[in-house]
Amino acid sequence: MMSKSAPTLRKGATEEQYLWFRNLAQRTYDCKRCPRMERHSAVLGPLNGRLEARVMVVGEAPGRFGSAVTRIPFRGDRSGENFERLLPHAGLRREDLFIANAVQCNPKDDQGRNDRPSPQELRNCSDYLRELLDIIQPPYVVTLGQKALDALRLIEPHKLSLKDDVGVAIPWRGVKVVPLYHPSGRALANRPFEEQAKDYTRLERILKADPGGKWPGRFTGDLKGM
Ligand code: SF4
Repeated sequence: MMSKSAPTLRKGATEEQYLWFRNLAQRTYDCKRCPRMERHSAVLGPLNGRLEARVMVVGEAPGRFGSAVTRIPFRGDRSGENFERLLPHAGLRREDLFIANAVQCNPKDDQGRNDRPSPQELRNCSDYLRELLDIIQPPYVVTLGQKALDALRLIEPHKLSLKDDVGVAIPWRGVKVVPLYHPSGRALANRPFEEQAKDYTRLERILKADPGGKWPGRFTGDLKGM
């Protein structure tokens, strides 16, 4: 059975969103597609954020000291601390967002340390991420790091790159994707905090220039399996 954490219907979320999300969360919780993640339950539930969010964030994977423990994406580890320090530069609060990952479980190496998801693991979890996008229908998708961009590419091809497109809104599959760097310590070595803060400020400008709500009439997802 799925955790303690059955999603609750939030103001603004439709019944269809709620039911579909609950069904998806249960399937990811039971999922055994990735052998090294079989014993790690997926981090997908009400603590991922608002089903009616205007901005959906896609990170890389739950961290072993972060959401794999807290069940709250980007909470409890160094990446989470950095993310929470960066968010205000975009004028955003955690409660404004829905936060998911390229893969929904925590990949670990042989020593039990955080590992990056493999290409096969990204493929294994791709259907779930696509369903999440169809459930949330966010006007904006903010990717954090290269693996998140790779995960979107598996759903529908794109030519986005972190180097060329960071902090720019690019149309993709009926939404706008804004690539940002991952807030991990490793990524901060390449893109220091001050630079990343400027990227988040560019995101704020994009969102402020487009204050409209969701795009109506885009609920195109397949409801089978409900
Ligand atoms: S990462 Fe995704 S595909 Fe792999 S076991 Fe977890 S839910 Fe299943």
